[in-house]
Amino acid sequence: MKDKDSVEKVADFILQADRVVVFTGAGVSTESGISDFRSPDGIWSRYDPEDFTIQRFISDKEARKRNWQLRKELISADYQPNPAHHAVAELERLGKLSCVITQNIDGLHHAAGNSAEKIIELHGTIKYAKCLRCDDRLPMVEVLRRIDEGEEDPHCRKCGGLLKAATVSFGEAMPIDEMRRAEICSRNSDVFIVIGSSLVVYPAAGLPLIAKQAGARLVIVNYAPTDMDGRADVVIHEKAGIVMPAVLERVREMF
Ligand code: NAD
Repeated sequence: MKDKDSVEKVADFILQADRVVVFTGAGVSTESGISDFRSPDGIWSRYDPEDFTIQRFISDKEARKRNWQLRKELISADYQPNPAHHAVAELERLGKLSCVITQNIDGLHHAAGNSAEKIIELHGTIKYAKCLRCDDRLPMVEVLRRIDEGEEDPHCRKCGGLLKAATVSFGEAMPIDEMRRAEICSRNSDVFIVIGSSLVVYPAAGLPLIAKQAGARLVIVNYAPTDMDGRADVVIHEKAGIVMPAVLERVREMF
């Protein structure tokens, strides 16, 4: 751990705080084996981002097939939470966590033990699929099984509408309730910790600034520099799976 002073500072912030908000992006899950989007070996090095617009999904059957292929890749690999997810779950057990706002769709904060009411999934979840016409939801494993059994382009069995992963595609509106809760939680936080996000996908990436402007201490734990580093009270450019357990160890020592 290169940056011991910064770890200590973040632990102090947490000890003094009552309402810690954790904001996670794809980088919190790379140590679980799930690629992020924008790193050199990220998902966009293998898939075309255009295939993930809602317009392309609706209009192009071949794009839908590539979409299901990526969902299958993510679901069948049985990814597990890593030490960074477990550290966030521990923050909740210590009574410090106000909420975890995640841009991720992988469900790993649930798997690590954070309670569902503390998790705000801004971009939805791949654990479910939804009908684009009647809004019916069904488990993703069920849809993937239908694909395995030969259905190339699954449609809703209730109304015949198109099925899609219950995630927010490019061009699709953000979920209103989740976004509102995330804004309130951010505004009321006393420490706001970004973990593994390039902070370029808006409106989610605006939440750290809302928190900072409302008086929270802003911490950024991200491998690569972000445009918001200059606004943060502490910035740590190391792996989340190393930094976050070290922070929690220090918190435990002083608690
Ligand atoms: P991003 O790909 O734009 O950025 C990820 C950031 O994490 C990078 O800046 C990288 O330097 C950093 N990073 C990578 N590994 C790290 C590690 N071990 N420790 C610390 N930092 C690390 O991701 P984003 O900001 O989340 O935005 C892109 C969108 O990607 C999100 O909206 C999300 O929905 C989606 N996405 C989600 C998943 C997932 O659910 N796991 C995976 C890929 C993409």
